[in-house]
Amino acid sequence: MAYLIEVSGIVQGVGFRPFVYRIAKRVGLRGYVRNLGNYVEILAECDEEKLRRFLDLLRKEKPPLARIEDVRVREVRDEGYDDFYVIKSGEGEGSSIIPPDINVCDKCLEEMFDPRDRRYLFPFITCTDCGPRFTIVTDVPYDRINTTMIDFPLCEDCEREYTNPMDRRYKAEPLSCWKCGPRYFLYDNSGRRIEVDDPISEAARLIEEGHILAIKGIGGTHLATLTTDDEVVLKLRRRRRRPNRPFAVMARNLDVVRKFAVVSKEEEELLTSFRRPIVLLRKSDDYYLSEYVAPGLHTIGVMLPYSPFHYLLMRNFDDPIIMTSANYPGEPMVLELDEALRKLGKVADYFLFHNRRIANRCDDSVIRISGGEIAFIRRSRGYVPEPIDTRFKSSVIATGPDLSSTGAVMKKGRCYLTQHIGDVENLETLEFLESAIRHMMKLTRTREIDAVACDLHPMFPSTTLAESLSDELGVELFRVQHHHAHAATLLAEHGLDRIVAITCDGVGYGLDGQPWGGEVLLSTYSAFERIAHLKPQPMPGGDLAAKYPARMVLGILYEALGEDVRRIAERYLLDGFKRGIREIEFSIRQLEKGINTPWTSSTGRVLDALSALLGVCYYRSYDGEPAMKLEAFATRGDPRAIRIEIDFLERNGVLMLDTTKMLLSALEALERGERREDIAASFQRALAEGLYALAMETCFDERDFGFSGGVALNDFIATTLRKLFEESGKRFFLNKLVPRGDGGVSFGQACVAAARVEGIE
Ligand code: ZN
Ligand code: ZN
Ligand code: FE
Repeated sequence: MAYLIEVSGIVQGVGFRPFVYRIAKRVGLRGYVRNLGNYVEILAECDEEKLRRFLDLLRKEKPPLARIEDVRVREVRDEGYDDFYVIKSGEGEGSSIIPPDINVCDKCLEEMFDPRDRRYLFPFITCTDCGPRFTIVTDVPYDRINTTMIDFPLCEDCEREYTNPMDRRYKAEPLSCWKCGPRYFLYDNSGRRIEVDDPISEAARLIEEGHILAIKGIGGTHLATLTTDDEVVLKLRRRRRRPNRPFAVMARNLDVVRKFAVVSKEEEELLTSFRRPIVLLRKSDDYYLSEYVAPGLHTIGVMLPYSPFHYLLMRNFDDPIIMTSANYPGEPMVLELDEALRKLGKVADYFLFHNRRIANRCDDSVIRISGGEIAFIRRSRGYVPEPIDTRFKSSVIATGPDLSSTGAVMKKGRCYLTQHIGDVENLETLEFLESAIRHMMKLTRTREIDAVACDLHPMFPSTTLAESLSDELGVELFRVQHHHAHAATLLAEHGLDRIVAITCDGVGYGLDGQPWGGEVLLSTYSAFERIAHLKPQPMPGGDLAAKYPARMVLGILYEALGEDVRRIAERYLLDGFKRGIREIEFSIRQLEKGINTPWTSSTGRVLDALSALLGVCYYRSYDGEPAMKLEAFATRGDPRAIRIEIDFLERNGVLMLDTTKMLLSALEALERGERREDIAASFQRALAEGLYALAMETCFDERDFGFSGGVALNDFIATTLRKLFEESGKRFFLNKLVPRGDGGVSFGQACVAAARVEGIE
């Protein structure tokens, strides 16, 4: 008898075929296994008893990274195979899922630290269960010729392992060794090679001495230096011109992490998972690293080693070291040595670079736990290109918004987000976005496209890209309002048709052309209604008010206090104006006359304003800084200590939360001499309660409520909202598969466009 078995799921690049071969031999099957793109086909010539044993082992002993979604079995004719074979990959149609990059496995680590092993201390050790995937793949199917390992022809020993089905490196595409594999080399900042026996130990010694090193890793380049020496950290900040943005750190193991941060069970699982993201952890009471690593924040971004190279480097350090992305904020990661020397020659003292090409640059992913759930700040290495399933059937390309962007390729309803792209403001990032989207189409063999989606903003570079893509492909372009896209991410992630989405962020282009950002939308996939929002506030100086949040305080209070805001500004905000009193005067005049003063319903701007009023942060040197520092500051306060007034206004039948009254309450508390930490905490609570009331007041009969946008990363606000809605018997949803911030927007855009194409409401 014979059976044809089809297994679908994540079955490529995870050692699935060798595994099938081994259990087939064990059970005594004849036949073959082969990869057919989106599934693995197995021919099993055997009796029913053996088939049952085989299927049992298939599920029970599957490789750690494989995900079996479906197994179909049907009886076929016996072909009379004499043995069991692995047949070379077919050019199967359909989308083969290439796995994300995978942390080095325990077996490989054991070998790497075994002096008798031929790969002793080899920084590129790998097997069928572990190693780089997405970052080295140039095409499908996932075979060595379609990876950057093609530059390193296998030596005899490696060849033997690669072709022996019983070897644990059988068909391990990135396989290599000291004889045939890539190497690390050390250079000074003029590009001269430094001849040493062991470049990695030498690099560790240089870091120990307080030097800054640029280090090429799996998906790009990091800057590495000490975390414990203020002078060294400040040197890095000066050279990078990065005054405040937090640096991520790498620690050799969890015991080291626990010396400076609090690690919950859930966070431990994230840190040690094969995906190895950066996890934002709360600094512990024993925090002993330099304050300048993550200044003014209560959290610190931490990761564990993920490539074998990291293990070799980190064994030299008992403290964590800084491992921060070497790209300039918003720009893609630096990949190759000449580019690194050009861009980082004045930042790094030495360069530790290997000679394997990176096919797809990919930043580290960043995650925090917020509102009791996993929240992506950045979804990239370790997650890309894993798809997110939706209810749709169409194929759509989405180009995302402008900042902290990703792109998306939806193929027949499966949505593949690109790696983190950054701020699509210049030609370099725009090209990166386009090539990432095209590469994702190639990897998923997506040729037929039904629609293209982009932001509503007419001037975004990502919009221009979408326009040219829709021309090129001859398909319709859908322009999706920013907060509608956020709302759609909640619908798609949770399988809903309709939701009341509270979408709070810094800015998104509104239907009226104004900057929105504190919205209550009653949303389906294809349409939304702006039910309520924060009261629009003037931004004197436009974008300057986002950079210098003290201007926002003037804007929000001007209507209530008139000329009296001058006194408030002089008393509490003088440091918030670069040119002091003159600039205060000027801003007030802008408000009075309405010159260069757009109006925004942004939640981010309100939190920024409070941050400035309380003296927490006067200048935004990176995206979200004032609000993040406010959140950190508020953790030291009592959210019930101060009464902040929650009141509503109505304009043209639309309810608005009166943020002027809220900020006035905060000001009065400040003037009474209340603790500023308490004011911060109470204000955040009032904002959550105000948003809750705004949504409940207008949509009481609805069942499902959700919270998305960058502000949804705020743990206190997300947690408070969840509690309030759940206590009222409502269902409450947050994003956990895509970023709550703008990294999730391309996914939402794709869903909205797919719904319109398919005529789904
Ligand atoms: Zn391994
Ligand atoms: Zn070799
Ligand atoms: Fe947003």
